[in-house]
Amino acid sequence: MKDLQYYTSRPKADKHNHLNLGMHYNTYKQWSGITIPNFPRKLNGLDDMHDIIAKYTRPRSKTSEDVIKLIDMSITDAIADNIVILEGSIDIGFMIHFEENLDKFIEMAQSFVTTYAGKIEFRPELGMGKTFNKEKIDEWAPELMKSGVFKSIDLYGPEVEDGIEGFKYLYTLAEKLGIKKKAHVGEFSDAKSVRDFVEFFDLEEVQHGIGAAQDEKIMQFLADRKVQCNVCPQSNVVLGAVSSLKEHPIKKMMDAGIPVTVATDDLLFFDHTVGQQICNLVTEGVISEDDAEKLLGDSIKN
Ligand SMILES: [Zn+2]
Repeated sequence: MKDLQYYTSRPKADKHNHLNLGMHYNTYKQWSGITIPNFPRKLNGLDDMHDIIAKYTRPRSKTSEDVIKLIDMSITDAIADNIVILEGSIDIGFMIHFEENLDKFIEMAQSFVTTYAGKIEFRPELGMGKTFNKEKIDEWAPELMKSGVFKSIDLYGPEVEDGIEGFKYLYTLAEKLGIKKKAHVGEFSDAKSVRDFVEFFDLEEVQHGIGAAQDEKIMQFLADRKVQCNVCPQSNVVLGAVSSLKEHPIKKMMDAGIPVTVATDDLLFFDHTVGQQICNLVTEGVISEDDAEKLLGDSIKN
């Protein structure tokens, strides 16, 4: 039986990792001096998570030094899980801590690529919240994308279609620049929303996308278009998007021919590395050892 040590030792990618929340709680606690009561624990959806962020983590990321340290801890913890490709999301909102200076922000992202070259292929991803100041996004995002440092973009926030038109031009620009197009959808939202987002933004990858499993035709649609879903089983269980790991639709998605990877989402909250999650999926009988090898191998193919 292949164990946790085996799955930790295997080289793999993490393609859905919000770097400001991407480190183990213990790592975070040591640096911040903050103890979050009764944590990690099962959460009551995203609102519960955002309450903890507002109370315990946002107040501890107030300066550019804080942001740099948070990202550094996340990359270090990824290396410990033998992540060899990390598509880590840096939230555009952190521009505020870099005096809204594009060059300083770009330099910060690039410095991690350089510092960790040889240990991990770090691919900075530009993360954008739908609820963040749109005028600032319009001012900053095209310039950040043109820098060549950001290899992918991601859009997150409420999984609704209202207001997504305003982001369309950034995906058109990404296509032009050869930047990978991702967005969060189908975490709590349904299959149709996944198809709508993929079509609207011409997405190459979906962050979560498990809602697609409710509809065979939409799974076929994703498989035909080879749209990769970067799923985060432990996040789904902790936030209540699925009732248990055993109920997780990852196998269904794989069997439908959708390219799938396993990712951490927010290690601080969910406390399970990619290696741990794959190991648990095998132990719980959700996927076979062969499926696990496919997940590991496919994750580092592109
Ligand atoms: Zn996410």
